[in-house]
Amino acid sequence: MADTVASAIREAATRLSGTSDTARLDAELLMAHALGCSRSDMLLRRMQDAAPAGFASLVDRRAACEPVAYIIGAQEFYGRSFAVTPDVLIPRGDSESVVEAALNAVLNAAPEAPRILDCGTGSGALLLTLLAELPDAQGVGIDASAPAVEVARGNAARLGMTGRADIRVADWTVPGWADDLGQFDLIIANPPYVESDAQLDADVRDYEPASALFAGPDGLDDYAILIPQLPKLLMKNGIAVLEIGSTQAEMVSEIAQQHGFAATAHKDLGQRDRALLLRLRLG
Ligand code: GLN
Repeated sequence: MADTVASAIREAATRLSGTSDTARLDAELLMAHALGCSRSDMLLRRMQDAAPAGFASLVDRRAACEPVAYIIGAQEFYGRSFAVTPDVLIPRGDSESVVEAALNAVLNAAPEAPRILDCGTGSGALLLTLLAELPDAQGVGIDASAPAVEVARGNAARLGMTGRADIRVADWTVPGWADDLGQFDLIIANPPYVESDAQLDADVRDYEPASALFAGPDGLDDYAILIPQLPKLLMKNGIAVLEIGSTQAEMVSEIAQQHGFAATAHKDLGQRDRALLLRLRLG
């Protein structure tokens, strides 16, 4: 007799437990994808239905360390589903705390119709989440990668945000990239910040875009280029919220202070430094 959905998931979870910390969840997400239904519908049907033929090859891909998000083409972030391809970094739980910090900062400052700039927008997850949470906000998302911009535009369209999100190709290492953007109440960025010789897990190292991860020997190259350009892009009371690696708060704060900012670190749920809030010092 053919495997049921339930027994196929059980076998896959055992097989994947060597390569994944979330083997059971991975197996469930792959099964829902193979069945073309939601995870909760799949769980309701799992004792009766036969496992679909396509499931095994999805499990093979995951066993070779390919991330689930690339296999199924989607990742949940802050309660919404975002399309992802290997051209964009997979949105991470870590970055949800960056969104949290940015939302608090904007809600405290209470500008009327906040203008938001997302530097290195990738899938658009950070920008589009903020726009969804702040119905009066307008956003610009830039990325150096044209394929990434296509992914972000697709996500903007699916979330009904095309009118509020201007997503375009721009590269902050090229002078003049921001000349026609105006000024912003909030600038967010999850730039590349991994040290070039860091030992990453195979699913990150072999599948995610290196250009979104690595930033020189100490992981600071992009902060060093981007931060000096932020003062002219911020309104007087504007705030920048930058994602950082958990060991980088001090070094990135130092760069920010050299360019007129006061910096405050913000921790993630695991109590690691995850974001820096930058405000221009007055006077
Ligand atoms: N947090 C990511 C990782 O280490 C890095 C993201 C980034 O460089 N912006 O996998």
